[in-house]
Amino acid sequence: GGYVGAIRAAQLGFKVAIIEGRKNLGGTCMNVGCIPSKALLASTEHYHFAKERFAEHGIIAQDLTIDLGKMMARKDAVVNQLAGGLTMLMKKNKIEVINGWATLKDDHTIEVAPGEGGGEALTVEAENIILATGSAAIELPFLKCDGKKVVISDQAIALPEVPKKLVVIGGGAIGLELASVWSRLGSEVTVVEFLPQIGGSFDADVAKQTQKILEKQGLTIHTKTKVESADVGKKGVKLKASQDGKELDLEADVVLVAVGRKPNTEGLGAEAAGIKLTDRGRIAVNEKWQTSLPNVYAIGDVIDGPMLAHKAEEEGVAVAEILAGKPGHVNPEVIPGVIYTSPEVASVGMGEDAAKEQKRKIKVGKFPMAANGRAIANDATDGFVKVIADAETDRVLGLQMIAATASDLIAEAVLLMEFGGSSEDLARTVHAHPTTAESIKEAALAVEKRAIHA
Ligand code: NAD
Repeated sequence: GGYVGAIRAAQLGFKVAIIEGRKNLGGTCMNVGCIPSKALLASTEHYHFAKERFAEHGIIAQDLTIDLGKMMARKDAVVNQLAGGLTMLMKKNKIEVINGWATLKDDHTIEVAPGEGGGEALTVEAENIILATGSAAIELPFLKCDGKKVVISDQAIALPEVPKKLVVIGGGAIGLELASVWSRLGSEVTVVEFLPQIGGSFDADVAKQTQKILEKQGLTIHTKTKVESADVGKKGVKLKASQDGKELDLEADVVLVAVGRKPNTEGLGAEAAGIKLTDRGRIAVNEKWQTSLPNVYAIGDVIDGPMLAHKAEEEGVAVAEILAGKPGHVNPEVIPGVIYTSPEVASVGMGEDAAKEQKRKIKVGKFPMAANGRAIANDATDGFVKVIADAETDRVLGLQMIAATASDLIAEAVLLMEFGGSSEDLARTVHAHPTTAESIKEAALAVEKRAIHA
């Protein structure tokens, strides 16, 4: 969010500096989040496919083994390549990068302490300030992270060996993605989720189907289960959980705590400088991302809304444009969400369950990936696409899907919704054949019960 906002501000003629404590720009996403986890998801998916599916394709591959060190080195190289790209982008846009940890003193003054890359203590004055400090993993009070047996996602992307038994606490995006990585590498993985379903706010049918697919891949998933205490011993970790009132004992060599993230406001000095926080501890902003200090803005995970890199990026652009006197805007109703398991799970807009809860009159069209020609050819038939449209106006309210390339497919739905499109628009749009994107068209046709291939 920060670097994207900085680039847009520089494009608009501002003199811009970024203060970053880490060695690299790019935040959680590029350094220890989205990017390294996707590198590992790609590597492990190749391995898993080779092991489980090659024979079916007539490919004989014997003695498949893992070189975990090399896999991790490739992941690090991916991160470093992007870090290098960001350094170049800063130079190109004449943005000054100050390596250090910032504390806000007042609405124009920032004190900087040396960061991970060295640097020196200094004071920076600015006309406008954008806070884009992101978030950090929440830890459980009875299970402090030691970085070895009890880890958060930052460390779970860099384990030195494949744990024999891994327990993942939290069945959200982080939990499910990293559970997939280590399970594919041979770990016996158990996911413990407190809520009745995994994946957060997806529709119940999507969550249920995802759970079934992941269980078929070898994950053990306990929903309605809360880990309540832990005993970290020399050899491993013993956990006590309650499942629907019953006690459940779990053992692990490594426990990954993935129970959500908290905004990074500590050390920032925001409150002391007069910035108001919300009840949930995030920085309070108005519709122009202004904090209670009018020339201090905040974007991304540190303010309300989904903690997603693409939401932060768009907010960064919007604030830069507002500062330049333009109408910066982000549509909060149309922000896609993706879980990068295999298949991927994606959604945008309103779900069927939420629409029903709000008593909206809706029409729903569903199409199984197993009826899509390209998905069959690709050996990727798990999942389905669901289109949710307003019953009277036919305007598309949302889309949810489980599909191998759902992260890319969802873009079409996002664009359609940005233009206020209908299921009819989607149904009459020509889609290249054969593509998995045709499943979206078919689901749109199914809204009026006229899907061709199902
Ligand atoms: P999350 O809030 O999405 O999921 C955490 C899960 O842990 C919830 O389902 C919650 O019910 C469960 N939980 C909490 N306490 C528990 C307990 N004691 N026992 C069992 N279960 C418990 O958080 P996350 O997966 O840690 O991700 C953090 C943030 O980062 C989220 O906002 C997420 O959307 C974002 N993120 C997104 C992506 C992506 O877009 N693919 C990837 C990683 C992270």
